[in-house]
Amino acid sequence: MQLPQFSDVQAAAGRLRGRAHRTPVLRSATADARTGASLFFKCENFQRMGAFKFRGAFNAIVQLSPAQRRAGVITFSSGNHAQAIALAARELGVRATIVMPADAPAAKLEATRAYGGEIVAYDRFAEDREALTRRLATERGLALIPPYDHADVIAGQGTTALELFEEAGPLDALFVCLGGGGLLSGCALAAAALAPACALYGVEPEAGDDGRQSLRAGRIVTIAVPKTIADGAMTTHLGELTFPIIRRHVGDILAVSDDALIAAMRFFAERMKMVVEPTGCLAAAGAFAMAPQWRGRRVGVIVSGGNVDLAAYARWLAPGADA
Ligand SMILES: *Cc1c(COP(=O)(O)O)cnc(C)c1O
Repeated sequence: MQLPQFSDVQAAAGRLRGRAHRTPVLRSATADARTGASLFFKCENFQRMGAFKFRGAFNAIVQLSPAQRRAGVITFSSGNHAQAIALAARELGVRATIVMPADAPAAKLEATRAYGGEIVAYDRFAEDREALTRRLATERGLALIPPYDHADVIAGQGTTALELFEEAGPLDALFVCLGGGGLLSGCALAAAALAPACALYGVEPEAGDDGRQSLRAGRIVTIAVPKTIADGAMTTHLGELTFPIIRRHVGDILAVSDDALIAAMRFFAERMKMVVEPTGCLAAAGAFAMAPQWRGRRVGVIVSGGNVDLAAYARWLAPGADA
């Protein structure tokens, strides 16, 4: 099993040039005043299809052999990875099959279809999606690109931190959202090479703190599907590739409550005029919680995505609302 290296992140940056957006790094005087730190927000909510996942998807598909490209790709996801694969595949002239639950939100099914993905619906309660995806991949000769446990996906996601360090300069700490760990492990490769003294934190939802448990246990801990508004971080375990990288480079993993995510979502809307989805608020909520420790320091925060159901978003922003 070959772990990706920093050189793979650099190579991914070359492949993504002109294909992915170089997203802005935004500052907020209010956030700095509140925390006493200098915060640098890397805004992947402005990435193509609305989240960093386009980076990994494109970096994986563009490296397939001509025969694999002709055959097409397949993945399982009901979230941002589905849209990322559909869009990246369309750009590269590759057919994409996405295995999604039949009862996925209509907006997500539509968005994936609009990017050109062919949806295979399955029954969440009766079928195992990974097994179904693997079977279809074998039967149809499709290349399977999973959401996080894939070397090219990890390297692609790592370009997020690479760009942040290029733009913001040295940082004392970096906070990254954590689901299956593709983003965190990729960013860890960049941080370890470019800023070895930078403290690295993963932030996951309190209800699904399998990453924290895994770091403490020294092995991958699997949990039940967590109940949280952070739908992009409802993963039940880290990956065979992501865990060893996280274990080597990440200082600590924090867990934040859904209420802290709502507070961060409101902060982004009110003060920075940005729509950020709940999962995209994890790193900011972690940075706000740890602020006293980082007073006077330079702190990076990855804002991972902005795809949110508008009705739910309106409810969360309404005064007095909680999770
Ligand atoms: C997928 C996703 C995450 C989690 O990324 P992993 O690589 O699975 O850790 C965080 N935020 C958003 C917006 C996502 O779509």
